[in-house]
Amino acid sequence: MASGPVNDTDVLIVGSGNAGLVAALAAHEESAKVAIIERAPVERRGGNSGFSGGIFRFAFRNFDAIRPLLAESPTLPFTKVEVEPYPADSFHNDLIRVTEGLADPTLTKLLVEESLPTISWMASRGLVWELHLTHASKRGETFVWRSGTVPVMARGGGRGLVDMLFDIVDQTGVPIYYGVRAVGLLADSGGAVYGVLAQTPEGTKEFRAKATILACGGFEANPEMRARYLGPGWDLVKVRGTRYNTGDGLRMALEKGAAPFGHWSGCHASVIDAEAADVEAESTDTTRYSYPFSVMVNREGERFVDEGEDFQVYTYAKIGRKILEQPACIAYQIFDQKTLPLLRSPYMNSRPLLGQSVEELAEELGMDSERLRLNIEGFNQAAQEGEFDPSGRDGKRTRGITPVKSNWALPLDSPPFYAYAVTCGITFTYGGVRVDPQCRVVSEDDRPIPGLWAIGEMVGGFFYHNYPSGSGLTRGSITGRKAGISAARYVKGR
Ligand SMILES: Cc1cc2nc3c(=O)[nH]c(=O)nc-3n(C[C@H](O)[C@H](O)[C@H](O)COP(=O)(O)OP(=O)(O)OC[C@H]3O[C@@H](n4cnc5c(N)ncnc54)[C@H](O)[C@@H]3O)c2cc1C
Repeated sequence: MASGPVNDTDVLIVGSGNAGLVAALAAHEESAKVAIIERAPVERRGGNSGFSGGIFRFAFRNFDAIRPLLAESPTLPFTKVEVEPYPADSFHNDLIRVTEGLADPTLTKLLVEESLPTISWMASRGLVWELHLTHASKRGETFVWRSGTVPVMARGGGRGLVDMLFDIVDQTGVPIYYGVRAVGLLADSGGAVYGVLAQTPEGTKEFRAKATILACGGFEANPEMRARYLGPGWDLVKVRGTRYNTGDGLRMALEKGAAPFGHWSGCHASVIDAEAADVEAESTDTTRYSYPFSVMVNREGERFVDEGEDFQVYTYAKIGRKILEQPACIAYQIFDQKTLPLLRSPYMNSRPLLGQSVEELAEELGMDSERLRLNIEGFNQAAQEGEFDPSGRDGKRTRGITPVKSNWALPLDSPPFYAYAVTCGITFTYGGVRVDPQCRVVSEDDRPIPGLWAIGEMVGGFFYHNYPSGSGLTRGSITGRKAGISAARYVKGR
């Protein structure tokens, strides 16, 4: 572990999540003298990236195009897998569709076009990629990934990703200063940034550098900013990831005239066990992503969302907001004996409430049993005939009720019934600063602020309203690599 401060750095990186670590590698590859400061102590390092599933979305022509990048597992030989193609135009259309057409065109192009080259470059730097089964379905003995689900993750998930990146960065000799919190940018009279002011265990110090890359996340762990920008109630939600992303970088950049950009009242908020911790809530047991096969009701026994609108990967990031709108920010996912076998592993160690009948379940949940019975009966009658197929959008829908369930609408009629209490968990915020294609921070006058870059969660304009899963890490790697190269060349060119 390095001890500071440093004042002769070419490129200073603030934050050591996926984006910051990738930026460090890219800048070092360009022969820059690089240093990283990280607010967390060493034992809590990794940021949201460390809490993540380590799943990366990227465009690929067909499985043959990515097979050489993947480590084959003896338990999952490539002969037993079928990965449907996910061409660039599908990734592009997904980004535009789920963001309701608002995603910035230049950033969207960057995300799509640089996705596979960046994954390949990371492999060349020693990152190990594997198939993972979370999004797979089974056809006979074959594991199938439908187009748009995400087949690839870093070995060991999010923790594995950051552990590998820290190892690779350590091998380059780039120092990381832990327990150092940037609190302000240093800028000369012309506005050029030359480092940061930071709180260290030894007091407040300057860390000077020719180029500064902000990689210190959004404001998801700051209840005051959540209430201010996302709105009432958001101060109370659970925080899935790191406690350290409290918007410092955004505040510091805005203070120096950076242009705010993107969906400042929007965030990625998904569905999480109601009993999870309030902060750093994510664990192997807390996600509740089998809801497309459930009937989901609020405390009053009312459905409030189309549980089967699409594959989970396209709906989970917006469903948290719907749950937040419900009384006490609580909902129940109800399964019966037909759908129970489809539950993902995180449900296995938890405590569902059980009922031999809908009325009995309602009593367990403290609900009006007549109301729940009527609502479930209404749902069952509305469920249309058709083949139930959990591996694809089966179009087995309801008719005549609101909200509709668009796929996987099986009647809830095979007791005992199991109910899992869930709530809203914020993942990360969408609002950020505006950057150009090299990830230089742009001022409100639309000019790059000399010496300043921003990457990862700090960049606005990528995501609005919703998000296709696996795009956050890909964005972090792409922007990290771009900024690392750009900052190193800026220093060289001075
Ligand atoms: C539970 C969970 C699961 C997820 N799963 C996935 C997934 O599978 N795939 C996917 O694509 N995305 C996923 N995401 C989203 C993804 O993790 C993030 O979007 C991405 O990791 C952000 O990377 P980053 O480097 O920008 O930020 P982070 O990884 O959060 O890194 C920011 C770093 O900055 C540090 N920091 C903060 N303030 C300061 C300061 N003032 N000074 C110095 N350092 C500071 C923090 O301590 C942290 O280490 C998930 C997120 C969560 C929370």
